[in-house]
Amino acid sequence: MPVFKIALLKGDGIGPEIVDSAVKVLKKIGELFGHKFNFEEGLIGGVAIDKTGEPLPPYTLELCLSADAVLLGAVGGPKWDDLPTYKRPERGLLGIRKALDLYANLRPAKVYESLISASPLKDHVVRGTDFLVVRELTGDVYYGEPRGIFKEGDKRVGINTMRYTEDEIRRVIKKAFQIAKDRRKKLTSVDKSNVLEVSALWREVVEEERKNYPDVEVEHLYVDNCAMQIVKRPSSFDVIVTGNIFGDILSDEAAVITGSLGMLPSASLGQRHALYEPVHGSAPDIAGKGIANPIATILSAGMMLRYSFGLKEEANLLERAVELTLHKGYRTPDIYDEGTKKVGTEEMTDAIISALEELCEKLV
Ligand code: NAD
Repeated sequence: MPVFKIALLKGDGIGPEIVDSAVKVLKKIGELFGHKFNFEEGLIGGVAIDKTGEPLPPYTLELCLSADAVLLGAVGGPKWDDLPTYKRPERGLLGIRKALDLYANLRPAKVYESLISASPLKDHVVRGTDFLVVRELTGDVYYGEPRGIFKEGDKRVGINTMRYTEDEIRRVIKKAFQIAKDRRKKLTSVDKSNVLEVSALWREVVEEERKNYPDVEVEHLYVDNCAMQIVKRPSSFDVIVTGNIFGDILSDEAAVITGSLGMLPSASLGQRHALYEPVHGSAPDIAGKGIANPIATILSAGMMLRYSFGLKEEANLLERAVELTLHKGYRTPDIYDEGTKKVGTEEMTDAIISALEELCEKLV
């Protein structure tokens, strides 16, 4: 029986509730398909500060480095808001991403038919939308040197440097091609190559790599045009790959067209390590009330099955179980609509598990 070691970093606020839900679902998948998931917990964020004085204690880091994948809840909350920046819970997140050398951030933007009215776009525009933004995470203008605010005569000048090496571009482009190959085989590369040399190099590398993926259709878009096309024809995209700053903006735009923060999963992949977490934060306003939407975290666990463990059938089944549960009308308060069944975190989790069992029975 295959055994996978998963590091659980529950974090703060609703973190423990939603991670527990995902663990319950993973255990059911293990039972149905004959896999063993070993879970080991580490502290991160505010709860780690309270217990150890640091947002990312060395034990947590070691645990993550030795695990096959990391599942994270969320960090932060008002209790720690007054700490100096270098001591805040969010530092734990930055630290772990850096230590695991996670260079590709994956954010799916999927519009569920049952939740289509939650999208700010018209139904006929957004129907069928199911794409993935792959954002480079470790380079670009956020990290390039020189950077700073300098004096030029008696005036100040702010400087940042947009910089990518060929290798940094190539590894994320390859990853995006591999992902597109397993989906609907369409890759949109986004740049600003009409003005930026960094983007011209980006486009050259995409053109070099496309020869290795002849069955993947490639489209190049300038970032300003892409921002427009995402709201005009979102269902035409499959995989969008882009650099750090463009991806930062486009992945938030993509998130908003789906309409529900509690539904959005993410994955951050490196060469050897990977971390999975919901896009939303620790939601301190609803923590401990049993009403958090666990779906973003459950779908993040689904991405773990697909991208870290290569369990595609299991991941597909999990996604279909979430769809079926929504179709049956189960809703946590954040996605509730008249005429549907309002449930809490636990009931939603149990409904997804029942849907998994139901779908699995149909498979045999
Ligand atoms: P948030 O995402 O936590 O919450 C925004 C709103 O969405 C709130 O009303 C919240 O109740 C709701 N919400 C979020 N997730 C939900 C879910 N699963 N189910 C139901 N409702 C949900 O953002 P915020 O309020 O700006 O930040 C709260 C804290 O989280 C802050 O300390 C912030 O720094 C931190 N944060 C952490 C991460 C992370 O860990 N990756 C990301 C963003 C924010």
